Amino acid sequence: MTPPPTIVTLTGTGVPHPAPGRAGAGALVRHGDIALQFDAGRGTTLRLTEAGAPPTALTAVFLTHIHSDHLVGLADVAMTHWILQQIRRTAPLQIVCAEGLCERFAKEMFTPYAPDIAVRMEHLQPELPRIDLRTFPLPAQPTTVWRSDDGTVTVDAVAVHHEPVEEAVAFRVTTPTGVVVISGDTRVCDEVEQLSDGCDVLVHEACRATALRDAVKGTNFEKIFSYHADTTALGGLAQRAGVGHLLLTHLIPAPGTAEQEAAFERDVREGGYTGPVTVGRDLTTVTIER
Ligand SMILES: [Zn+2]
Ligand SMILES: [Zn+2]
Repeated sequence: MTPPPTIVTLTGTGVPHPAPGRAGAGALVRHGDIALQFDAGRGTTLRLTEAGAPPTALTAVFLTHIHSDHLVGLADVAMTHWILQQIRRTAPLQIVCAEGLCERFAKEMFTPYAPDIAVRMEHLQPELPRIDLRTFPLPAQPTTVWRSDDGTVTVDAVAVHHEPVEEAVAFRVTTPTGVVVISGDTRVCDEVEQLSDGCDVLVHEACRATALRDAVKGTNFEKIFSYHADTTALGGLAQRAGVGHLLLTHLIPAPGTAEQEAAFERDVREGGYTGPVTVGRDLTTVTIER
């Protein structure tokens, strides 16, 4: 039997500053029945449902780092997963993250909802919401942190450079039909270059730092740009790593016109990448077939 394709869908391409049509950070990687979500920014539950993968269809949710634009939708995903148990019982939601900040966030996220949980348990929900939290020590080198029950899909992680935010990681998903790397938030760094070696799709955050250097000088944006991935340097990384398809997300600044979208691709080309580039929109999907 031919193994199913590996399908990457962006569930959100936005950043903390809201922009029309762009939900918060998130990417979904599917291979047959295995559905892995990376991050859960604002609107993730809605986008997942639009993509045909409501929270109960998820095999696991992976967290890249503690910034709110990557986590603010996590309780929504988990609470919705719980509420949907009224219709169909599934295993507890698996959440996979580095030990420390994200672990604590996942453990505490239900606390403010305690009164709501109590009310729902009185009339409809017999059980408390449950998560299956799996943590790993922050990996300085690429390390396997998750494996599907059937052993066909693995996820590796490596620590990246998003300082002053600590404990940020990137992930690499390997299925029988594709390899997908998710950068999370990071400056362009050797760790992601190594992790992306020969991958089919690199989902990378993108910030037009070089192009807008003069425009942001002396503003808060200069500081923000310093810990995000410059699109021009990213073009060089993708070329050196032999990336099959570069899928840009977490777009800074959020493009509102075709011309502004094209500018992201232009930066990447200037950096030297010659392969296919997609400037992501919410629900942009790339299918890998081997
Ligand atoms: Zn961040
Ligand atoms: Zn972010």
